[in-house]
Amino acid sequence: MKRAIYPGSFDPITFGHIDIIERSVKLFDEIIVAVLNNSQKNSLFSASERVTMIQEIVKDYPTVTVCSFEGLLIDFAKEQDANIIIRGLRAVTDFEYELQIAQTNHVECPALDTVFLTTSLNYSYLSSSVVREFASYGGDISKFVPKQILPLIEEKYKN
Ligand code: ADP
Repeated sequence: MKRAIYPGSFDPITFGHIDIIERSVKLFDEIIVAVLNNSQKNSLFSASERVTMIQEIVKDYPTVTVCSFEGLLIDFAKEQDANIIIRGLRAVTDFEYELQIAQTNHVECPALDTVFLTTSLNYSYLSSSVVREFASYGGDISKFVPKQILPLIEEKYKN
């Protein structure tokens, strides 16, 4: 049984994340989308809001579950009995940091491997921070995120 964790902030989830989830569904038996609940980070959406949004988006994929976690990813992976971490790579700039984290996690927990999926070309520019920046100025973000979460993002920037 290949159970993989796809961790991230997902603040908010974008078409880039969804592309990685859809491709992972074909590679692994079970996928846990794990929303990092980092109280130190000033997020736009609370962890439970992000979990609810993602659940709605992945509801047609029976092998995908969504939850939030706090603390070390390796501890969460052990708890979930998962030995694969999925991460997306957009550009070379992602690489150095991701490599360091993946190697650290592997040293700490040798049973745990990180699998990198390269982003689809049409989403390589896309990040949650770009979405937040655009939305904060009232920009059109309909090419970046699914339509059901557009009003939720707009609501956050209303004032
Ligand atoms: P984090 O704060 O952990 O980087 P993100 O929510 O920004 O969380 O991203 C979660 C994962 O999804 C990361 O591995 C990131 O590289 C990947 N990702 C983000 N945007 C894209 C995209 N447009 N295409 C492919 N992967 C992406």
